[in-house]
Amino acid sequence: MPFDRYNREINYLRISLTDHCNLRCVYCMPLNGLKFLPVQDLLTPSEIAAIARSAVSVGFRKFRLTGGEPTLRPELLEIVRQLGAIEGVGELAMTTNGILLSELARPLARAGLRRVNIHLDTLHPERLSQIMRWGRQEQIWRGIEAAEEAGLLPIKLNAVIARDYNDGDVAALAALTIEQDWHVRFIEMMPFGIGECATIARENFISNEEIRARIEKEFGALSPFPGHPSDEAQNYQLPGARGVVGFISPVSEPYCGYCNRMRLTADGKLHLCLLNDAEMDIKKQLREKGTEAVQAILLKAVQLKPMGHRLQEGIFTQNRRMFQIGG
Ligand code: SAM
Ligand code: SF4
Repeated sequence: MPFDRYNREINYLRISLTDHCNLRCVYCMPLNGLKFLPVQDLLTPSEIAAIARSAVSVGFRKFRLTGGEPTLRPELLEIVRQLGAIEGVGELAMTTNGILLSELARPLARAGLRRVNIHLDTLHPERLSQIMRWGRQEQIWRGIEAAEEAGLLPIKLNAVIARDYNDGDVAALAALTIEQDWHVRFIEMMPFGIGECATIARENFISNEEIRARIEKEFGALSPFPGHPSDEAQNYQLPGARGVVGFISPVSEPYCGYCNRMRLTADGKLHLCLLNDAEMDIKKQLREKGTEAVQAILLKAVQLKPMGHRLQEGIFTQNRRMFQIGG
């Protein structure tokens, strides 16, 4: 099992498949000035599978596909099929904005995907066009329904809350858990790089403490729902609810001490901590030296993983934005 210098078991690999996206969430992607990776820089499906096999051989068990928007990767089903066939892959999930899920949920489930987290910041069509900018609420909703029908359970919805954009929606989002056995998770905004997204993440930041207080004012006291320590969400239930409300609070209550994850970027770099710039080039090792070198670099990356982020000191990732890492 790969343990790092701080005795954390690192067994979860988040694999970004692309830096492209069909939405432009205000805190994640600017509208202008974007440059995307050339196709030849992307890891191929068989390279991704080779890295995953090496990761399993050193003790990784949990894998998640992300992006950008992973459903835009033309070889997505092939990638899921290859990863799903690897013995030792305990959990195979995907984080998506759900726009293309109505068509893809069933084939993805057949290919071996087990679960999806779907990103939905508001139930209000106009506010959706302000915060996620390009999508339509009914597309995402159809994606959620298709995921449920395909058995990609439990459905987890991710909502990033920004003051003056969608903070008026927290009660309606939380209320989804009353009738549905879904998890609705509120994520605090984090700043990346420079420019408008980082500015919004700082100036429109709203803490989960405030979001929780608003929810409790509306519905009454939340009761704790048991979870695993490495689950980044603190989970609760509304009175009488079937589902779960989760709070992911990397800014106000960092959970770095429980971090169990490593990130693989679409261009083949191991990104050692979401909010730091440290990276190692695993694609180069794989292409030049083969899979044995991949095991070695994975173990080295685990050893070099930073203790945690330093947002409180104003230090955060400069070289990549969220859509270039994968969350
Ligand atoms: N496109 C997919 C999606 O939106 O779910 C997958 C990639 S997206 C980068 C992964 C997660 O990052 C999403 O749940 C999104 O809400 C979250 N995210 C993006 N930018 C963020 C930011 N600045 N702070 C906090 N979460 C952010
Ligand atoms: Fe796209 Fe996801 Fe970023 Fe929104 S959060 S712009 S859906 S990558």
